[in-house]
Amino acid sequence: MPNTKYVFVTGGVSSSLGKGIVAASLAKLLQAQGYKITIQKLDPYINIDPGTLNPYEHGECFVTDDGAETDLDLGHYERFLNVPTSQANNVTTGRIYQSVIEQERRGEFLGKTVQVIPHITNEIKRRIQVFGTSGDYDIVITEIGGTVGDIESLPYVEAVRQIKWEMGSENALVIHLTFIPYLAAAGELKTKPTQHSVKTLMESGVQADILVCRTEHELSDKIRSKIARFCNVSQEAVIESIDASTIYDVPNLMLAEGLDKVVLKKFGFQWKEPELAGWNKFLFRHKNPENIIRIGLIGKYVELQDSYKSILESFIHAGAENSTAVEVECIHSENLESGNVPSLLAHLDGVLVAPGFGERGIEGKIAAVQYVREHHIPFFGICLGMQMAVIEFARNVLNLKDANSTEMDENTPDPVISLMESQKSVSDKGGTMRLGSWECQIQPDTLPHRIYAAETIHERHRHRYEFNDQYRKMMTDAGMIASGINPDTGLVEIVELTDHPWFVGVQYHPEYKSTVANPHPLFVNFIEAALKYALSNKKNTAALN
Ligand code: GLN
Repeated sequence: MPNTKYVFVTGGVSSSLGKGIVAASLAKLLQAQGYKITIQKLDPYINIDPGTLNPYEHGECFVTDDGAETDLDLGHYERFLNVPTSQANNVTTGRIYQSVIEQERRGEFLGKTVQVIPHITNEIKRRIQVFGTSGDYDIVITEIGGTVGDIESLPYVEAVRQIKWEMGSENALVIHLTFIPYLAAAGELKTKPTQHSVKTLMESGVQADILVCRTEHELSDKIRSKIARFCNVSQEAVIESIDASTIYDVPNLMLAEGLDKVVLKKFGFQWKEPELAGWNKFLFRHKNPENIIRIGLIGKYVELQDSYKSILESFIHAGAENSTAVEVECIHSENLESGNVPSLLAHLDGVLVAPGFGERGIEGKIAAVQYVREHHIPFFGICLGMQMAVIEFARNVLNLKDANSTEMDENTPDPVISLMESQKSVSDKGGTMRLGSWECQIQPDTLPHRIYAAETIHERHRHRYEFNDQYRKMMTDAGMIASGINPDTGLVEIVELTDHPWFVGVQYHPEYKSTVANPHPLFVNFIEAALKYALSNKKNTAALN
């Protein structure tokens, strides 16, 4: 009798219905009842991982402790559950095929013809059930990316069918997320697309056990019973998922609808009141702020919110911690130049320069850093943002007018940011950056030392270029100090300015580690500094009037 139970989350009717948030919310409710949970995302595209994808294609690339470049949904899983994920939590079709083809080359199929069924489906099943064999989890939630009916989803749906058949419905169940559109002309919610989508799933031999129905209007009992009747599910298994003002409301909405109760009942597990005190305290603070501040987020993908997902969520966590609403103003770095920087930045209480790759928009970022440095506006630079701060300092304080990163100008006379030694022989683009969790020793008597209240920290990385140590002494003497160093390589991980109220650049990505239960200390402190700046500014303005 298998111990670990499996929940599959599939999507129908339309993409972008929020499968990841529903999966994370269910996981949160089960975790809050004491169950050990993990969530996995299976992505039906051919890339080995999203690391090589442009953010315009797929939003942010989330990085785990073990250095996997993954789908941004893993960020939601970690933020909701406060448990780290790993490479095993995100699998793509590319990776599945890669491992099957490698097995074939090693001769492991003993002369057999290698086929989608059973070889690809077996590899998919193995990657799902690996969590069960580890014995670490009571329930594994597996989200299948894409929409049922897509050609590329078929092997995944087939793997789900086989697991359900082999394990029985008391051990494996399917939640199908659908959409109930509202037709204004008819004044009605329409169930037909849901019926069709459930039918599409059935054509592959999979009966949905629970329907989560995304809707803009409440579902009446009549609609629920209609959906239940036409889709072969019990009425209690028709779950309304109404639009929420924040994704962090969704666990409570699912609780009110009884999603967790239906899942546990089907598995023969006991339901108890979930312990959500910490979660609800966060929600209260998030929704009832005492102050409001405005932060500028400077990047080159700002028109797409998903590109900076983890940064935006970290602001929400840090804002709640400070009982402060953080209004984020996204500023396109390509629109910034020295001339318009004052008019675009002067009203801000803090500025974050975002991570990124390539030359586009970097001069705008550098101009922004100069302005906030000179005007003592709190500044937070992440990865490329930190590198921009180093270049700005070199150009305008050390007077090295053509200082640059060799990523942008290979022939710069002053390569203050340069390619890491370990990267020089790298030619493949996928999975070859400095990735995952690395140790950092924080220097005593520095701002990060006070903020982390620790000497040794571990943070996640994703970059190829580094602070060039040859310029360290010059920088330090002029007031930009290295406050965090990797003990093995000597790489500079944190820089700060000594004569500025809050100016910190980090080579790593703190945003990947901020969760509801554990807001990241750097974000919390940055928001605190921005709030202080806002309040003192107001006082100054009041004194002037
Ligand atoms: N492009 C820079 C590098 O590779 C910064 C990367 C980033 O911001 N994640 O070093």
